[in-house]
Amino acid sequence: MALVYAFDRAAGLGRDLLGGKGFALAEMAQAGFPVPPGFTITTEACRQYHREGRLPEGLWEEVEAGVRGIEAATGRTFGGEGLPLLVSVRSGAPVSMPGMMDTILNLGLTEKGVLGLSEATGNPRFAWDAYRRLLAMYGEVVLGIEPAVFENLLEALKAERGAERDLDLGAEDLAELSARYKRAIEERGKRFPEDPWEQLREAVLAVFRSWENPRAKTYRRHYQIPDDLCTAVNVQAMVFGNLGEDSGTGVGFTRNPATGKKELYGEYLKNAQGEDVVAGVRTPEPLARLKEENPKLYREIEEVAGRLEAHFRDMQDFEFTVERGKLYLLQSRAGKRTPEAAVRIAVELAEEGVISREEALLKVDAGSLPALLRARIDPESAPEPVLRGLPASPGAAVGHAVLSPEAAEDWTARGFDVILVRPETSPEDISGMFLSRGILTARGGMTSHAAVVARGMGVPAVVGAAGLRIDEEKKRFYLGEHELKEGDVISIDGSAGAVYLGEVALIESETGEELEKLLSWADRVRRLGVRANADTPEDAQRARELGAEGIGLVRTEHMFFDEERLAWMRALILADDEAEAETALKKLFEFQRADFRGILEAMDGLPVTFRFLDPPLHEFLPPLIELERKEAKGELAPGEAKLLKQVRRLAEQNPMLGFRGIRLLLLRPEILVMQLEALLTATKELREAGLDPRSEAMLPLISDVREVERAFSLLEPVFERFGFRIPLGTMIETPRAALTAGAIAREVEFFSYGTNDLTQLTYGISRDDAGKFLPAYLEERVFPYDPTERLDEEGVGRLLRLSAEEGRAANPDLKLGLCGEHGGEAHSVKFAAKLGLDYVSASPYRVLTARLAAAQAEVEKRAQA
Ligand code: PEP
Ligand code: MG
Repeated sequence: MALVYAFDRAAGLGRDLLGGKGFALAEMAQAGFPVPPGFTITTEACRQYHREGRLPEGLWEEVEAGVRGIEAATGRTFGGEGLPLLVSVRSGAPVSMPGMMDTILNLGLTEKGVLGLSEATGNPRFAWDAYRRLLAMYGEVVLGIEPAVFENLLEALKAERGAERDLDLGAEDLAELSARYKRAIEERGKRFPEDPWEQLREAVLAVFRSWENPRAKTYRRHYQIPDDLCTAVNVQAMVFGNLGEDSGTGVGFTRNPATGKKELYGEYLKNAQGEDVVAGVRTPEPLARLKEENPKLYREIEEVAGRLEAHFRDMQDFEFTVERGKLYLLQSRAGKRTPEAAVRIAVELAEEGVISREEALLKVDAGSLPALLRARIDPESAPEPVLRGLPASPGAAVGHAVLSPEAAEDWTARGFDVILVRPETSPEDISGMFLSRGILTARGGMTSHAAVVARGMGVPAVVGAAGLRIDEEKKRFYLGEHELKEGDVISIDGSAGAVYLGEVALIESETGEELEKLLSWADRVRRLGVRANADTPEDAQRARELGAEGIGLVRTEHMFFDEERLAWMRALILADDEAEAETALKKLFEFQRADFRGILEAMDGLPVTFRFLDPPLHEFLPPLIELERKEAKGELAPGEAKLLKQVRRLAEQNPMLGFRGIRLLLLRPEILVMQLEALLTATKELREAGLDPRSEAMLPLISDVREVERAFSLLEPVFERFGFRIPLGTMIETPRAALTAGAIAREVEFFSYGTNDLTQLTYGISRDDAGKFLPAYLEERVFPYDPTERLDEEGVGRLLRLSAEEGRAANPDLKLGLCGEHGGEAHSVKFAAKLGLDYVSASPYRVLTARLAAAQAEVEKRAQA
């Protein structure tokens, strides 16, 4: 099989082999879009390179033939006399990784070629500019020289010549700059080859190598992109946007990537080359301005945009260059968009008939939906902003300003929310951007690195805030005339492009019309039920508004953590005699009765699963170390000696594996009984008030059917006393419970998979201490993803499958739910849908994710059938 394909011969080969960019170029070339000729070196070549550590056999002959093809199509010669053929070399992985991989432009240019180029174009300035750009890009990408080396030389020369902008430097200046670049390269023991073929070979190798650069690895880890996808390399004839005022370069979106509105959107920079725009080095003009300046060109771009969208059936992000009035497309891909825009675009494309509703469901990342409920600045209470910039990524953020990715790490490690404040961002900032609540930059436009990456991450961002100045050395920055230091709190509004001093009050967002529509389509398709985890009436109400069809888990212990209740819980634990215990229990009964009522009222008519007390008792007592310290200083208060004794008695080496859950309930049955009494009382009262409470209750952490039998025998008399019963179930949280599911299923009406504990116990990884090694495990890719976040299908999933099958075989009416954190994570929800569970239960915001992911699972299943 060939390793190199010309764009117009590569149709039908697929994204995996051609990479996203190569795939789109092939499609466009075939469909007759104005694409400069070129070829793609496949991802297979890259994989072979990484396997063998050298260029695959035969590859170079194919590349040579590819270049001959471009020569034939353009009538120019690579390394030839007169107007030489120059090419761009770009990476392109099967999934888009913006800013991650490297690009070299003007490749094939030599000092000799500069002369030919200046004569042929009559524009020596242009020719030297192309050459010095090649030197810098080659220096950075292939030779690994710091970009700052070249930037500083450019700034120094501008200062010497009194030039304000790059454009103020003439041909001779740029020739001088080229000489200085070369010297800088040589001073570092490196060499720039004056042979175009050597340039090409080294550039291709550099793209292959860049697949393994740390930035690319960070990105892949974050988005769980497999390491063996590898990248393709695209070699394409250069067209020049910097040949004069009738030339230029730009990027366009067929719809607004921030809001999703149907409008041509983008930026244009006259007399410039592409990287100037993407790197945010020069701030471009909005595309809309072209409408007046050059209506013919604008219309042409608009027409191409429309055709691109129809062809690719999605919003496109395209790069174009105008060379002396002629429009060329350099690439097109599905545009990164905010979660807001993703929803609106999917819904509108479906309503315009471009795609089906089922396709629309697949176009939105289910995991991104909670971000739509991101807080907004409260317009009522907002002060005047101190600064304005571009509204690059919507949503509001409040946090401590940090001026570097290192500071972002440092402050977040200490538990603070941060906003990353930078002159502009580059791929080196990615790690800091992942950690930040918001991003603020001084330079760059709506398609600058900061804007694109923030939108992709769903992080609010304001970019190009011209009044922002940063003094990194002194760790100070200026918002207009206000001087601040690193760590000071600021607020930003990425929807309005506003920056505020200090903390500004935020309010919750509502779900918009388009989201409601998309989710209503999802609800019609999905078969998996979606409930929420909630411990308060407010959370329950919120969950209901977000579409929860019940509560799958009420953690009843959460109601004991407020101060007054905690005191009574302690009184119960420390009681000396029955009377004291009785008083405490009565109090706790009252609290729970009221709490249960509130939740059942909020969820009237929908099922609510209450879980009996789960955590070890010592969680309700002060920490041992605190009391021992007091004891050592002789400062124990009167009652505290007894407290200390009890705390010592209850202390465990391994409380997660200890005296908790069903074990505690069986040995302190008064708590179990009190909780059911409170629940039945609340249920009865609501029924009497004409409501329809649907209570259910379940036992935590069981590992043996005998525990279930024992507990139910304690509960039976309570049911008899009240004269009615409610459905009883168990959580499946221990491997043994899963492995003996048949026996347990015969005793209960439902299982609820507690995948937090089940993951902890299946792996033997402590939920509380995983932070010590799990991040390093993910970094080193020992694990492909964090199993506490995303359900492990092979191991934990196998226990789920086995117990679901055996449970249902033993009790055909058995209902199956899942209420660990995985219930709100898209991959895990799809897995639950595939297993045929009855429902998942997610934290309120993530109900949106679960609804959409459950529908996506169904659509994907139908597509496979
Ligand atoms: C679980 O273990 O998955 C669960 C839902 O219970 P908790 O997180 O309260 O231990
Ligand atoms: Mg649990």
